[in-house]
Amino acid sequence: MSLLSVAIKRYPLALFTRTIVKPVTTQAMHIQSIPMWEGTGNNYAYLVSDDKTKEAVIIDPANPPEVSSHLKAKVDAGFKLMKLINTHHHHDHAGGNKEISQAFGLPVVGGRDCALVSETPGHQFKFNVGSINVTALHTPCHTQDSICFFFEDGQDRAVFTGDTMFIGGCGRFFEGTPKEMHKALNETLASLPDDTKVYPGHEYTKGNVKFAKKVLNNDAIKKLDEYSQANKETQGKFTIGDEKKHNVFMRVDDPEIQKVTGKTDPVDVMGALRSMKDNS
Ligand SMILES: [Zn+2]
Repeated sequence: MSLLSVAIKRYPLALFTRTIVKPVTTQAMHIQSIPMWEGTGNNYAYLVSDDKTKEAVIIDPANPPEVSSHLKAKVDAGFKLMKLINTHHHHDHAGGNKEISQAFGLPVVGGRDCALVSETPGHQFKFNVGSINVTALHTPCHTQDSICFFFEDGQDRAVFTGDTMFIGGCGRFFEGTPKEMHKALNETLASLPDDTKVYPGHEYTKGNVKFAKKVLNNDAIKKLDEYSQANKETQGKFTIGDEKKHNVFMRVDDPEIQKVTGKTDPVDVMGALRSMKDNS
């Protein structure tokens, strides 16, 4: 019996029927990046809306003069702003809470130390923005009240990481330990689906690549280097799967990084990498 006839016998349907599955378009999540303090802090606020139900939330609107007009335009377009969400309490993320929450009548959802916070979701607490499912993920280290927010609309997934994860890097350990950042990046965020797009609190990619190249050479870092040289903005262009390849803080088991840091325990590697970056 030829190989083909064996295949036909075993997999008749797979060979001869071409099932064309039309993608069901359920995605209504729309993410608008709002750059703030361009050239200095290089922060991002994010206006996330569900085009189906016209519900929207604003994440880290720290500089009201740069954000308010976008919120007004959204309201004028018939959207209902539901919440102000903070990734952590630092002023360049939560410093606009008073003005924005009062102007638009929004509850503040975020970590316990955020200004005027009215709701602190527990780890893995879920809520909705229209038809978008949101999960709060506690990632203490940069601050103890750092929370990442995972947004899921059908097959469309995004995570807002504040200053915990950047494209190709992570935040400083102001209130936490290497052990906490290892857990935040390599357990909590690493367990999200690989196709989840990453939206960090700052545009720091160029600086992160510069450091990454000092400790590791791989194709993913080369690609990120090229992309960040050619594009001013990198948020939402890379996924959790990409971060596992080009983010050196997510490669604590990489032999090349272990060699450069002189450590093998993942937590020790994390601590050594952060010190090297802080002093670079
Ligand atoms: Zn911060």
